[in-house]
Amino acid sequence: MSILIKDSLIVTQDDKRRIIRGDVYIEDDRLIEIGKINVEAEFVLKRRIVLPGLINMHTHLPMTLLRGYGDDLPLEEWLTTRIWPIEARLKAKHIAIGTKLAFMEMVATGTTCCNDMYFFEDVIAEEAKKFGMRCYAGFSIIDFDTPEMKKDLLLPECEKFIRKWNKDDLVTPVVAPHATYTCSPETLEKTAELAGKYDCFIHIHCSETRHEVYDVLARYGVRPLEQIKKYGLLGRKTMLAHCGWITKEEVKEIARSGACVIHNPVSNMKLATGGFTPLPELFEANATVTLGTDGAASNNKLDMFETMKFAALIHKHHRWDASVVKAQEAMDMATVNAAEFLGLNAGRIEEGKKADIVCIDAKQPNLLPLHNVVSHLVYAASALNVSDVIINGKMIYHERKFLNIDEEKVYDEVEKAAEELVNLREQ
Ligand SMILES: [Zn+2]
Repeated sequence: MSILIKDSLIVTQDDKRRIIRGDVYIEDDRLIEIGKINVEAEFVLKRRIVLPGLINMHTHLPMTLLRGYGDDLPLEEWLTTRIWPIEARLKAKHIAIGTKLAFMEMVATGTTCCNDMYFFEDVIAEEAKKFGMRCYAGFSIIDFDTPEMKKDLLLPECEKFIRKWNKDDLVTPVVAPHATYTCSPETLEKTAELAGKYDCFIHIHCSETRHEVYDVLARYGVRPLEQIKKYGLLGRKTMLAHCGWITKEEVKEIARSGACVIHNPVSNMKLATGGFTPLPELFEANATVTLGTDGAASNNKLDMFETMKFAALIHKHHRWDASVVKAQEAMDMATVNAAEFLGLNAGRIEEGKKADIVCIDAKQPNLLPLHNVVSHLVYAASALNVSDVIINGKMIYHERKFLNIDEEKVYDEVEKAAEELVNLREQ
């Protein structure tokens, strides 16, 4: 496939964070040239804002089916009375439908890559492949039987999963021990061994709530981060979701280890977790910080434009300092920071990079006048401004239409699956 984007404003996210006026040419999976270009191409777009595809670093994709089911409840009650009873009924077919819906929502809101953690991760990986989504697929390890399999099978099945997907171009297998309060020390240790054997990324929830921190402290005598470290899970390939309740010492420990923090401001606020992931301190310590939405049941969207904006606003408000978490920093967390951490040759608009690209239609009321494009992308843009999305060089979404999927069919399937799971008529 070849794609030419003409007369556009290019947000390169390169080392100098340059904004360039010009054209972008894409062929196969690569960004071939940036400049003044006159070639024939299958797709020709004009006058767009071109930016690297956004990277959503914390998702539970099939939870789109539970969107809006049980809002405004405290975390514990939300989990025990609404989420877990429904999750227990999940079957592979629901996972496939919820995942398709998640991919559609993410693409339509400018995301080209996600880092997931759920059950039936092989079904999710297969859907990513069919859809053309770049997906880091986290196989959940937990000390309970899951809707998919008995707990004793999780580690051996995870190993099969890694071997199956290890060489794939779009899907990368990730080992995902759920958290230190749901995995025993023995499980954590075995998980670390497995991840080490295949040099896999590790994705784990860490210090999301104060309750979690005190629970782990009471049970094991250490805080969650220390527990993660103690059993060999903290390192340069570790992704720590949340970190809302970490100390200044833990900030330094994370920076030293090379692990990355995934900040999920919208989900944290909605579930009222109270803690503020200490972004200014993490930046100061040179730790890698990235952004995620968390599952659609606790957000209730998978919209990274909204997430960038909230990530900037929540800390300004909390610190009484409007200069904290600048627009450029929010943009970096959603693009280059994540790509560099993942070793993904994307996250920037540069020649030779993988073509994971989002185009925005700039001629819209909320984007004019255009004094500062990065400011607009973080504070003024809405996901509705996204016009085209290219993943791995393929046009997936063009002029707000999906080219790879029958939208109406998915919507029908979603309604049916949701009804089956929740039995809406009883409400
Ligand atoms: Zn989560």
